[in-house]
Amino acid sequence: MFKKWMLAATAVGGATFFVTALQVDTPDLKTVVDKSMKAMGVENAHTLTFAGAGANGAVGQPCNPHEDWWRHYIDRDYVRMVDLDKQAWHIEFTRQEGDPHSCGGAGTTNPSPDQFTNTITQGGPMAPWNTQLEFILLPEGFLKVALEKSATVSTESMKGRKYTVLTFMGDNKQPVKGYIDDTGYVDRVETTIAGQDPIGDAVWIAEYDGYKDFRGVKFPAHMVEFQGPAKAPPKLFELNVIDARINEPVDLTPPARGGRGGFGGGRGGPGAGRGGPGGAARGGPGGPGGGRGGRGPVVVEDDDLGNGAWLITGGYGSVVVNFGDYIVVVEGPSNEARSEAIIAEAHKLVPNKPIKYVINTHSHFDHAGGLRTFVAEGATIVTQQNNKGYWEMLFDNPHTIQPDKLSMMNPKPKTMVEYVGESKKMVGGSNEIDLYHVQNSMHSDNMLMVYLPKQKVLIEADEFNVLNPIPTAPVEKPNQYQVNLLANIERLHLDVDRIIPIHLPNPDTRKVPLQELKYAAGKS
Ligand SMILES: [Zn+2]
Repeated sequence: MFKKWMLAATAVGGATFFVTALQVDTPDLKTVVDKSMKAMGVENAHTLTFAGAGANGAVGQPCNPHEDWWRHYIDRDYVRMVDLDKQAWHIEFTRQEGDPHSCGGAGTTNPSPDQFTNTITQGGPMAPWNTQLEFILLPEGFLKVALEKSATVSTESMKGRKYTVLTFMGDNKQPVKGYIDDTGYVDRVETTIAGQDPIGDAVWIAEYDGYKDFRGVKFPAHMVEFQGPAKAPPKLFELNVIDARINEPVDLTPPARGGRGGFGGGRGGPGAGRGGPGGAARGGPGGPGGGRGGRGPVVVEDDDLGNGAWLITGGYGSVVVNFGDYIVVVEGPSNEARSEAIIAEAHKLVPNKPIKYVINTHSHFDHAGGLRTFVAEGATIVTQQNNKGYWEMLFDNPHTIQPDKLSMMNPKPKTMVEYVGESKKMVGGSNEIDLYHVQNSMHSDNMLMVYLPKQKVLIEADEFNVLNPIPTAPVEKPNQYQVNLLANIERLHLDVDRIIPIHLPNPDTRKVPLQELKYAAGKS
């Protein structure tokens, strides 16, 4: 421990300075870390294993955007085995549809059966920063890396308690801060990352409470993570710990089946090319949180739907419709690169006309990651009523870590949004677009399907991704998503000649007839 001398100067009579020295005890980094490791009973730990049950979520995939991320899945029999020396870990759990209504899109567009998930992750300095954070957002991981990175020591009060705070810079030039209480327990670790499109800067916070003695190892009985805009980061992960041990062997042999990230979208945002439905599915505490979509070359092709409407392929499908004086685009998906390509193609197809509206099928980030690019273009977002205020709030969030076009504009255009209740008819030029709220969707409570009556085309997202192989007769156990979409089409008596799933079939321009949905829904 060293003594830090603080000098306090007091002016007396304007000219004479009277100097006193205040002695303040600020422990050095090693002392803080050693004390904390010892308090937690892990000073000789090479591995850490903990088990419990809880819930996790997928960023950008909630049923309603105003909810926490975490509602999708419950982890039963969760166990995380961490090699503290190698900064690598092994996670096993069973994931199941979450409470209360199994609604949301997390790596699958179907209600899915319970699934055993088994992943191995290598962290450490060579790993992507967000992967390193999955280790750092553990109390023991934080202390180890704080020591390696020569963290600074300070004190701070939070919620009426005094903490010793260790701070070091992350690879993304954002501070990582850990809060250590008087006992030596790490109560909180926080940092900021480049969040998944279209969030921008996202805080990532882990909180630990209820430290309990597990045969000498003091480990939090409860851990929770939040990730998102600093104003109101939604809950991402929660675990009630029932056991913790040290120095148990950790098997880091990659599992034979099921790669990291479990099923579905895996790490990071959907790329510019063909992505799986859903988006980032988390693998556990510190599963893939942030991460932006791919930055590969964006291929754009179009398929003429007739009467001034075109399907843009080469990724998530978008549709361009000529409204005479202006253009309407259905869907601003993925990220800036993809949406810039769609915008360029729209201007090629309908020259010298502004894009006045972009229709957002639902709030999931893989379908909305490019909306900011359309706002920068001057377009108004058309979205379902249940998203009220969401895009306006989210698009106000700073984008300092990875600036995008909208964040660099000065002045920054206001996010303009028009809301759709149960239906809305848009008419322009010789075209019409009818928007309908999909009732009883188990994927999103703000789902719009888009009908083009002139073209007899129905555009839908995530409610029906074509089956493989293509059914030629009613399927025996139809999926509820498809049954419900068909029920909505029949309820509205829509005359559908072609369905365009935003997650396009293979090949992209394959014409999907209504009959294909009927068979998938178990009907003849
Ligand atoms: Zn979705």
